[in-house]
Amino acid sequence: MPSLQETRSQLEATYRKRTPQSAALFAEAQKSLPGGDTRTSTTFTPHPTYMARGEGPILTDIDGNTLIDGLNNYTSLIHGNAFKPVLDAAQSQLALGTAFGAPNAAQVRLAALICERVKSVERVRFTNSGTEGTMMAVRAARAFTGREMIVKVDGGYHGTHDSVSGGAGIPQALMGLTVSVPFNDVTAMERVLEANRGKIAAVIVEPVMGSAGFVPSERGYLPAVRRLTETHGALLILDEVMTFRLDYGGAQAVYGVEPDLTAFAKIIGGGFPVGAFGGRAEIMELFNPAHAKINHAGTFNGNPVTMAAGFAAMEHLTREKIAHANAMGDAVRRGFVEVLEEQGIRGQVTGYGSFVGFHLTAQPVRDYTGVASVRPILREMLHLGLLNRGVLTSRSGVLNVSTVYTDALVAQVVSAFQDSLVEMKPAIQSECPDLAR
Ligand code: PLP
Repeated sequence: MPSLQETRSQLEATYRKRTPQSAALFAEAQKSLPGGDTRTSTTFTPHPTYMARGEGPILTDIDGNTLIDGLNNYTSLIHGNAFKPVLDAAQSQLALGTAFGAPNAAQVRLAALICERVKSVERVRFTNSGTEGTMMAVRAARAFTGREMIVKVDGGYHGTHDSVSGGAGIPQALMGLTVSVPFNDVTAMERVLEANRGKIAAVIVEPVMGSAGFVPSERGYLPAVRRLTETHGALLILDEVMTFRLDYGGAQAVYGVEPDLTAFAKIIGGGFPVGAFGGRAEIMELFNPAHAKINHAGTFNGNPVTMAAGFAAMEHLTREKIAHANAMGDAVRRGFVEVLEEQGIRGQVTGYGSFVGFHLTAQPVRDYTGVASVRPILREMLHLGLLNRGVLTSRSGVLNVSTVYTDALVAQVVSAFQDSLVEMKPAIQSECPDLAR
């Protein structure tokens, strides 16, 4: 029986063979980019796949391999790559100018669309990333409540600003202002709000944990968190940077909860850099330049090309198209569950709608401990196995589908998942008895 390590090496050898140009470019990149890349999520061993172009759901890498796009730039390309209406909108604006030191009509249209679709959002402001969106939402909550602490959930990702991320360089004093609790645990949330009575400005949470592995909130969790925040005078910030695509009114419509503030990004830029935050008019009034309570400048806030592309993407994101993408995601999840059963391997398939998470663990995945229980080598192997079969997913065991997915593509993704597991199975059988059914 081959070991996990031997099978991993085999997978890597196959990957190296099909991507020599990517390997060469990655080697070149080491000279000017630390670690050879500029984005943590896209870097992996032995080297990332450099893409040359994308059309609809298909990518072509610089070695000429075609891949099914299971990432859609981490959920932003809701209509897949190079969606014609988005290209047309962006190109029309490009011809008129790329950026002005003045507002533009497209930002008004996109703001109105967001306010119309998302019930809890009365006013919105644009940023250049989801990181900035959550950062300004947190700042608004602190300014509005006069409190400093925030609560997040373990494994919840809200970007890279100091109040919501970890790692070197973040002042200890600031880290002390953020407390983290397990996801889907109402009691833990209640406890932390009780223990810090009068100090919590906001709870920030994703309706479906995205980067952590597409772990949905359980029925009743978000409404309970809503009630608790109200009781404690804290604001509820829903991070819908990823989840806005799940329903016409965002995931808050699915879960029946009205937050005070919401952060957006990804799909609302049509594939261009974007972010936004919005919510109750009373809170958002803090940003009204007439009072200058919170300064929110930004050279590229509401950039006309982004706004035009974003509006086109959103205008084409009808209820029917959302339902189609969600149905495609449901079909992938069903397929993965069947494959795991057929192969006699224990694993958890998570997600909601167009989001699919796959975790080779026997533990239920309902919070970050479940996600973290997967052996890292298994994640790496499955990621490489899928890449070798022409499916781009993330090392963290997630993929997402777009409105341009078809049944045929779903079948190809499921078949690549099956073939990857078949290749890994002897090693799993020899080293992971916990994963045998
Ligand atoms: N919030 C969530 C839920 C995200 O998934 C992300 C990015 O993946 C962010 C915030 C940060 O967005 P950005 O990468 O645009 O800064």
